[in-house]
Amino acid sequence: MGADGGSIPDRRDLVKTKASAAQTDKAVLREQFFLCSLSKRPLSRPVVLDPLGRLYNKDAILEYFIDKTKYGDGDKICGYLKSLKDLLTLNLSPNPAYAPQESITTALTSARAPFVCPLSMKEMTGSVPFIALRPCGCVFSDASIRAVIPTLSRGIAAKTPSNDNSNEDKSQVTCPNCGASFNPTSPTSILPINPTPEVREVLLEHLLQSRAAAKAAKGKKRKAGDVMNGDDTRLKVTKVDDKGSVSPTPGPEMGRQGTRGAPPVPRSVQDKLAEQEKKRLIQQAGMSDAVKSMFKPKEVAGEKKNGAAEFFGRTFTRYAA
Ligand SMILES: [Zn+2]
Repeated sequence: MGADGGSIPDRRDLVKTKASAAQTDKAVLREQFFLCSLSKRPLSRPVVLDPLGRLYNKDAILEYFIDKTKYGDGDKICGYLKSLKDLLTLNLSPNPAYAPQESITTALTSARAPFVCPLSMKEMTGSVPFIALRPCGCVFSDASIRAVIPTLSRGIAAKTPSNDNSNEDKSQVTCPNCGASFNPTSPTSILPINPTPEVREVLLEHLLQSRAAAKAAKGKKRKAGDVMNGDDTRLKVTKVDDKGSVSPTPGPEMGRQGTRGAPPVPRSVQDKLAEQEKKRLIQQAGMSDAVKSMFKPKEVAGEKKNGAAEFFGRTFTRYAA
């Protein structure tokens, strides 16, 4: 297949390639559902989920926040994480048929998965989609929870009319596992676990947008007009506010405004910012620059900037179908 006109790929070439790619995908998915993304050790509770749907052992991510070099390439794996506030502690249902595995090899070849859907008892192996309910952290197979709660949102990555907040249904339902009540139609009520690279891309975009919006809103309301008129202003805002925000102990800015995840920003401003950021990202035809700009403030030389770019290269190469 030299693209020189000398050969035309036949069905065998194409089918073979596809089969091996599918096999690789399956192995990668299994790894994502069985191992901590950071330490690569078998997942064991407490397990946390990040905004892009990656799973970690909580002890590993705590070690990472204390010492970012602890896991070598940690910044490439989860450099977009700033603090524990970015993570959701999961209420996972252990698989009664699973024997805890010590080594990575036995964990990956184990016939049993460590966790199951509490509704269907389906094992969380990566073969069917699983989601977490954000309000309580309970984890279900996507199909099972939707059978119980048909109005459940498809999440922020879904391009469905249910993401239109204007006619959002405010009625509450209870989690069938723990009884916590929540609004199922809110796009933020669910988080996919190890979604496709495409969905992950949308989730990252959303994470960056909501951070930018939160920062713009923080004591900078009078500057809102400037922020909307130029990217440079937005970057300056990022630089100023980034100081100390990685620290696990709350800085003065965090103390003043405890909820980073839910910025008290007027809907219209947030929408405009989101719209503008989206346009910018689309224009750039890739997000590495946006991410670099988010990382720049707290990193010293060009070395780590490359890390961010590499993180993207790596992620998309590794998970590309
Ligand atoms: Zn629950």
